[in-house]
Amino acid sequence: MRDSIFIFSEDQLKYKFNNNHPFNQLRLKLTLDLLEKINAISKEDIIPPRMASDEELQLVHDPHYVTAVKKAGNGELSEDMAESYGLGTEDTPIFPNMHEASSLLVGGTLTAVDYVMSGKVKHALNLGGGLHHGFRGKASGFCIYNDSSVAIKYIQQKYNAKVLYIDTDAHHGDGVQWAFYDEPDVCTFSIHETGRYLFPGTGNINERGQGKGYGYSFNIPVDAFTEDDSWLDAYRTSVKEIAEFFKPDVILTQNGADAHYLDPLTHLSATMRIYREIPKLAHEIAHQYCDGRWIAVGGGGYDIWRVVPRAWSLIWLEMTENNNCYGPLPADWLDAWQDKSPVKLPSEWDDPADLYDPIPRKAEITEKNAQTVEKALYPIRNKAGHE
Ligand SMILES: [Zn+2]
Ligand SMILES: [Zn+2]
Repeated sequence: MRDSIFIFSEDQLKYKFNNNHPFNQLRLKLTLDLLEKINAISKEDIIPPRMASDEELQLVHDPHYVTAVKKAGNGELSEDMAESYGLGTEDTPIFPNMHEASSLLVGGTLTAVDYVMSGKVKHALNLGGGLHHGFRGKASGFCIYNDSSVAIKYIQQKYNAKVLYIDTDAHHGDGVQWAFYDEPDVCTFSIHETGRYLFPGTGNINERGQGKGYGYSFNIPVDAFTEDDSWLDAYRTSVKEIAEFFKPDVILTQNGADAHYLDPLTHLSATMRIYREIPKLAHEIAHQYCDGRWIAVGGGGYDIWRVVPRAWSLIWLEMTENNNCYGPLPADWLDAWQDKSPVKLPSEWDDPADLYDPIPRKAEITEKNAQTVEKALYPIRNKAGHE
């Protein structure tokens, strides 16, 4: 019996702002093709996404906002109205049928949820999802509907389960955090580049939740230029301690692949090493606490040629316990895509040791990040003083 499914259809590529926009779902095809070329996935593993219904979208989103997105996609929304919903901006331009394209990404994550929560499979991957900046009534940062937020509400209502959301995108997972900020049955964790110079500017250690949800929101803002060792230390330490504290029924991981050194939108200095380790620990936590229940979604990732296909393939390879991810990349994959790529494709699964020059402030950054972890985890390490 298969343990994992991969959600995909060509229609997911219709979530497309314009040809110059950094958000490019061609990365889904690049990833799937890489997996196919190493024989790591078969037709039976691939499940097409369904559309989310309006009712499902409205588990999180304001009905007026959903109406506005529909109108925008039909060319019927005035500029003023569009602006008030965060639509038609440089980050989140209007495109034809944007409601349908966005609903399909949400539906993909709901498909993943139903397979996992009904026990048909242990793990499910929807790389088309992960749009963590979408708000209740506003588009933001390339995100229209927030598939993770909708999926978490859906899990709560239909399956009555406690969800741990783990967000390793280089940007703060603000949309999901604020959607569950006052709820104690959803724990959100985000590790990201500090918002001092990076969108969306939030994700401070002291954003811990409010009311009954106080103590169930965790943020690790790491310094710009953070490298693998320091990043991994922060990730492993916090995810292990938070999982032990929260004891989730299911985990939902957002796997933005934009913390890599080559990513054009962020300033971290991670390599492929973190993309091996991220799913490994998630997988371990899922089996340790959740009887395997693990839903993984995509997210950011703007070097779609050199970074995202390898990083995202590693999630599927981890889910399916496949070790075929060392040494050279398959020649037929490189042949198929090199001509279309504006940059030279990598030849190996791992990055070369000399990917970038040594970071001068390494020791300082490492020390600062260790202190950030210490502060962020203080309440669960000192439960006596915490209600
Ligand atoms: Zn991002
Ligand atoms: Zn497993």
